[in-house]
Amino acid sequence: MSLPSQRREQHDRSAVTVLGLGPMGRALAGAFLAAGLRTTVWNRTPGRDRELVVRGAVGARSAEEAVSASALTVVCVVNYDAVDAILRPAAVTGALKGRTVVNLTADTPYRARDAAAWAAGHGVRYLDGAIMTPTVTIGTPDAILIYSGPEDLYREHRSVLDALGGTHTFLGEKICRAAAYDIALLDIFWTAMSGFNHALAVARAEGITARELAPFAAGIGAILPTIFSEVAEEVDQGTFSGEGNPLTSAASTMAHVIHASEAHGIDAGVMRAAEGLARQAIGLGHGAEGLHRVSELLRRAAALHKSRQD
Ligand code: NDP
Repeated sequence: MSLPSQRREQHDRSAVTVLGLGPMGRALAGAFLAAGLRTTVWNRTPGRDRELVVRGAVGARSAEEAVSASALTVVCVVNYDAVDAILRPAAVTGALKGRTVVNLTADTPYRARDAAAWAAGHGVRYLDGAIMTPTVTIGTPDAILIYSGPEDLYREHRSVLDALGGTHTFLGEKICRAAAYDIALLDIFWTAMSGFNHALAVARAEGITARELAPFAAGIGAILPTIFSEVAEEVDQGTFSGEGNPLTSAASTMAHVIHASEAHGIDAGVMRAAEGLARQAIGLGHGAEGLHRVSELLRRAAALHKSRQD
């Protein structure tokens, strides 16, 4: 390697651009800065870079200027429509040619495939990824990030990405894999949080404060990891043991939640949907099995839907 290109590579490895300065983008840029990287930032709405610039970030005047400053650009905005709005204008795309984009924005696996195809068609090196933990974890051992796409790109930029702290997992070369994990994990998170918010409303209607309920809610959270492992084992084996808690019993307690909620005038739509699926499984003769039979029924319905489309 010649001396100038060696210098450029060293220079590039100590530089990163962050596009998108919402709460997560600011956390990412903050962690890069804290790790001593030359960090260039840009956001659609001006002014969001103020604190970062005070800390030493370079505030670019345009997305084009921002991506031109580093070999690696990390983009983290609300969804892939926003990513497209930032990266697809010709001047930005042109500036990105030969450079790497790591897209840490959340969206669907389909959009990840689309983004990769666009990147390939414009000479942009593209790695997809997702962040599985809140902003406060970024730059700490608690951060969890996942990636998929070309492994050589991941390895090449890993030392810079390491500045984000925590655990980084490369999930394979299939570009949509990180988004697929992200969707499945968000499914758990948002239904759990919807359940928690609903539970708080029901508890308060019963005269129980959120603070009083919280330690018991944490107890429910604590039993989930073991249940997740056991259920995962069975689902992969195609077994649906209901020993200890058959579907008939689960559906009955779901009905209690519905009745108690509706008696207070609290919408029980989420629980009604869950109970409806459990009752369907019971109707198909699976009453003695576990609630995870529902997951198999959903999977089969999806396979049927797909076969009808093909
Ligand atoms: P948001 O999801 O609200 O994203 C805000 C960012 O998106 C801002 O930079 C905003 O720019 C930009 N944006 C929105 N629409 C457009 C557009 N049309 N064109 C250009 N930019 C646009 O906040 P976060 O920063 O928290 O999240 C960013 C990503 O990180 C999301 O995909 C989210 O799911 C993911 N994530 C967030 C976590 C969190 O705890 N916050 C945790 C894990 C993942 P502007 O300021 O101009 O509006």
